[in-house]
Amino acid sequence: MILVLLGAPGAGKGTQAEALAAATGAAHVATGDLFRAEIAAGSELGRTASSFIDAGKLVPDEVTIGMISARLAKPDAAQRVILDGFPRNPAQVAALDAAFASSGRTISAILLNVDVSILTARLTGRRVCPDCGRSYHVAHRPPTVADRCDACGAALITRSDDAPATVAARLENQLAALNDVVELYRASGRLQVVEGVGEISEIQSRLAATAAAVGFSA
Ligand code: AMP
Repeated sequence: MILVLLGAPGAGKGTQAEALAAATGAAHVATGDLFRAEIAAGSELGRTASSFIDAGKLVPDEVTIGMISARLAKPDAAQRVILDGFPRNPAQVAALDAAFASSGRTISAILLNVDVSILTARLTGRRVCPDCGRSYHVAHRPPTVADRCDACGAALITRSDDAPATVAARLENQLAALNDVVELYRASGRLQVVEGVGEISEIQSRLAATAAAVGFSA
């Protein structure tokens, strides 16, 4: 089964997907993380992606779909997968459906619903670990030791696309496409909605319960 976790930039998809993957043993596949790994490795794909990412735009579909297809072909993605950050537009929804049409694997979507007015503060306050990818927030999820990753001790950084100007562009460029994706899953009867505001642990419980209700559990 494939669980698509939908949400605006800053909705908390990464944090929640990581927790749900840990609780269910599913693979957590995040296109943003895959792009950042390609950029860190200095690959051609990474160079192509970085100009779009730094402008707050979506990376072109042919690049993104090729990358995610290769990832989903790996053995750890053969059973349960949580997709975080994909699909992000109608063409990607169609590509995902087409890829699994003959396999009989169910695709369900859950929208992590967060009002637009709070996304900017969530994104600009985010800090991430450059080594293990763990995500923090200066106010809502601070590390135990200031500016250090709880898991591996590395110095935390601000993602380049979390700079205020890029955050504004990301929200402007990406919210309409997210809405289109949400409506496609709603129209095909595959959408659940979980409120994404509140304590991280409460959201985690709501998400786990909703995921279990559609058959996605440990
Ligand atoms: P994220 O970590 O999910 O916020 O993704 C960071 C950036 O990577 C996004 O702002 C986009 O520029 C790019 N990106 C991630 N996923 C996709 C996708 N499915 N399609 C196109 N671009 C993407």
